[in-house]
Amino acid sequence: MIVDLAHKRAQLAPRRPAVRFDGRWHDYGELDLRAGRLAGRLAEAGLAKGDRVAILAHNHIAHIDLLLATAKLGVIYTPFNHRLVEREQAALAAYVRPALLLYDEPNGGKARAVASGHPMPLRSLTAHEEWLDSSPGPPSVTELDPEDTQMILFTGGTTGTPKGAMLPYRQGLCNAANTVFSWGLREDDCVIQATPCFHAALNAFTVPLLFLGARVVLQETFDPGEYLGLVEAQGATVLFMVPTMYQMLIGHSAFSEADLSTVRWAISGGAPCPEPVRAAFDERGIRFRQGYGLTEAGVNCFAIDLDDAAENPLSVGHPIFDSEAVIRDSEGEPVPPGEVGELTLRGGHLFSGYFEKPAATAEVLRNGWLWTGDLARQDDAGRFYLVGRRKEMFISGGENVFPAEIENVLYSHPAVSECTVLAVSDDRWGEVGLAAIVLRQQHRLSTEEAEAFLRSRLAGYKVPKHIHFLEALPKSGAGKILKQEIARWFLEGGQSAAS
Ligand code: AMP
Repeated sequence: MIVDLAHKRAQLAPRRPAVRFDGRWHDYGELDLRAGRLAGRLAEAGLAKGDRVAILAHNHIAHIDLLLATAKLGVIYTPFNHRLVEREQAALAAYVRPALLLYDEPNGGKARAVASGHPMPLRSLTAHEEWLDSSPGPPSVTELDPEDTQMILFTGGTTGTPKGAMLPYRQGLCNAANTVFSWGLREDDCVIQATPCFHAALNAFTVPLLFLGARVVLQETFDPGEYLGLVEAQGATVLFMVPTMYQMLIGHSAFSEADLSTVRWAISGGAPCPEPVRAAFDERGIRFRQGYGLTEAGVNCFAIDLDDAAENPLSVGHPIFDSEAVIRDSEGEPVPPGEVGELTLRGGHLFSGYFEKPAATAEVLRNGWLWTGDLARQDDAGRFYLVGRRKEMFISGGENVFPAEIENVLYSHPAVSECTVLAVSDDRWGEVGLAAIVLRQQHRLSTEEAEAFLRSRLAGYKVPKHIHFLEALPKSGAGKILKQEIARWFLEGGQSAAS
């Protein structure tokens, strides 16, 4: 099974444009050369098979260089979420113990702070080109197995402690083949990678299109106006974003007039897509479909024909090419057609486990099936629909938020006696957090103070938009906090009744 993608692509189509960054195209031959040079540099620095190379950077060609260099040395691409604050980055570093951390200038402060607590070599991307140019060249060939880990992508889990999903080379090829076969991707396709590279969304299009020999434009950070300009200038043929980004795009003044004539279709992923997004694309004559995936299934899991998507906009369709999906009850038995249960998946596109977390792995990978934590149902024609999440994680503006993590931070405040965090829907972000807090007697804490406390310890998108102080939290007989009741209270106008 092919492991060194860059080498194969350089053999098959060396002069085809591959990745656009910093105003110019890099072809497949060049990508292979760059990957070899980077691997040479890493080998020179003493790195070897199994070492994690972390990267804390906005979308930058170094992400692609590192992703492709993995196969030449056996190191593992381990992107850090640059939106996290230092404390959160430090937890990632303590967990995966990177042998090197690459960073771009905007993240220099965070990188240095993390390395002061968890000593590791740092390398700025400022002189990345010069560093590659003066590399000793590719290291001697490392024997790799398709089951060796190529990437570790972080996902939070309900406990809030980060879990690193290990994605082996086998997984990358399988996901790419599934995506190309099922979504009808072509060699002349061009996508704009606007979602951050540290996210599993990198595997939605960028990696499959690199396997295919097509074109990827890296947008450093998402900006809807610039995105539309890139679609026009580079002739993007397929669009992919999370719903919140699509909402920003359709709300941009240039959307209705932009030249989208090269676009074949658009797809959303990561969260349910609001109807106005589809309607806006319909108006522009562009067909739209909804994708579903998760990091652990690396990442695309379903496919829907464009005509079918137009008639069944809420469906994600059928399992992707080499994948099986079964909806089960809590005993593991398939539920009768039409009933809701937990979605389980099986196929070559699944991850191999969480890095150094066998118990967490065993919880979700059972007899070859991935228990997704998502609730789904099928219609009479067998189409799948996502209906909610068994796990409490929610997605705000395309980013995963784990209530337990926020609760843990709140509990570290001396005035907090009890608290809970849950998701409520939001027009702009899809979902946002609601924190319900009970204060200790004789303690005071204002909404502003609670917010400032959270902001100094968590990435902005994790800070609950709604913070309320209650006398007590509703509990079940077994003493568990009843989040649903708080959500109901909030929807019924509790937000105006409480502070
Ligand atoms: P991630 O691992 O970051 O890709 O997040 C995966 C989670 O996003 C899934 O487990 C789902 O809960 C959610 N998700 C992805 N796509 C959809 C969709 N089309 N509809 C509803 N939820 C989705």
